[in-house]
Amino acid sequence: MVSKKTVNGRAYYTCSECSFAYESKGLADKCEAWCRANNSCNLEITAKAVKLPG
Ligand SMILES: [Zn+2]
Repeated sequence: MVSKKTVNGRAYYTCSECSFAYESKGLADKCEAWCRANNSCNLEITAKAVKLPG
């Protein structure tokens, strides 16, 4: 399950498989589905990942 985190008033969605965070839930869902199916990360998706502040 993608988990939602709020940091400094902004929402982030984290892929439970690879722990990358995204500003859009759609991207996190995509990442998680890919990670689960392929047991690896899709660089096109993780390129859009953001670093969680703090
Ligand atoms: Zn992922």
